[in-house]
Amino acid sequence: MPDRFTILVTGGAGYIGSHAVWALKDTGWPVAVIDNLTTGFRWAVPDDVPFYKGNVEDSTLIAKIAKKQNIGAIMHFAGSVVVPESVENPLKYYDNNTAKSRSLIESAVANGIKHFIFSSTAATYGIPEESPVTEDTAQVPINPYGMSKLMTEYMLRDVSAAHDLNFCALRYFNVAGADPGGRTGQSTAGATHLIKVAVEAALGKRDSVAIFGTDYDTPDGTGVRDYIHVSDLAAAHVHALEALVAEPERNHLLNCGYGRGFSVLEVLDAVDRVTNQKISRKLEGRRAGDPDSLISDNRAIMKRFPWQPQNADLDKIVAHALAWERKLGDIRIE
Ligand code: UDP
Repeated sequence: MPDRFTILVTGGAGYIGSHAVWALKDTGWPVAVIDNLTTGFRWAVPDDVPFYKGNVEDSTLIAKIAKKQNIGAIMHFAGSVVVPESVENPLKYYDNNTAKSRSLIESAVANGIKHFIFSSTAATYGIPEESPVTEDTAQVPINPYGMSKLMTEYMLRDVSAAHDLNFCALRYFNVAGADPGGRTGQSTAGATHLIKVAVEAALGKRDSVAIFGTDYDTPDGTGVRDYIHVSDLAAAHVHALEALVAEPERNHLLNCGYGRGFSVLEVLDAVDRVTNQKISRKLEGRRAGDPDSLISDNRAIMKRFPWQPQNADLDKIVAHALAWERKLGDIRIE
């Protein structure tokens, strides 16, 4: 076991960040959270985790936390995640995801924080030229969201070459589901992601689910994605941390997915199966910028880390998303 310094989780009150906080706690890592609560929720952070309401670009605050909490690594989840919004308002994305990350990386260097784990995305590949997508597939983002994340990958690469810091960028495919124990989940209102939208419809929170395009070059004509359970993704972050600590000279750029895809129709069938009812489906046109299929080649992460996904099952992902959605009915979103 390496020295138990504390991990600072930015965006720890958000969807993926809150699962990472639990994954760290579950494996015995001390953890602290910084979140400005723009999209996150204070209640999503466990009561015994030190919480700082603030901005990642506030270098004075980061320095204070680094000292007080003995921060040795940062997991950086804070950022903006809505692709169409990034097209409308690119400067917001280059600010929240690029400029603020730059500032946080600078704070890491300034405060002697030696390990940095970054939430990157399959959106950095744009419309990939090959499927499954390997880490060597050309990264040609087709929207400012993907570009804003790719720029941060570049910064980390350059900073790690110049300073005493190593990093892991995890390129997430389609994240879904919720903590199997019901401790946290996807809570932000106005969801656009398929599984979240579908379980909302199953619970009568929406009338129907739109199917965006039935003429894709896929077996049933609908878009195919590699859905990964958020708790498996969170566990991958803990492995990343441990790998960075074990080999301080090494960086990792890794896809996070299961290496298999499901179509929109297969996802909706799974929701119907799990709920034992039929949600209403509305056929609509393609959404701009959606690739036919996005499936990870996950051999690199499977080889590099002792990562053993526990929830690589579509029905399980849907069941957990559904259980959380039910629970959200009782939670006041404020
Ligand atoms: N999709 C859909 N209806 C929805 C939301 C998504 O048909 O209400 C499709 C979308 O076109 C894509 C897949 O579901 O093929 C996954 O989309 P999502 O927005 O969940 O994630 P993305 O892959 O865009 O990051």
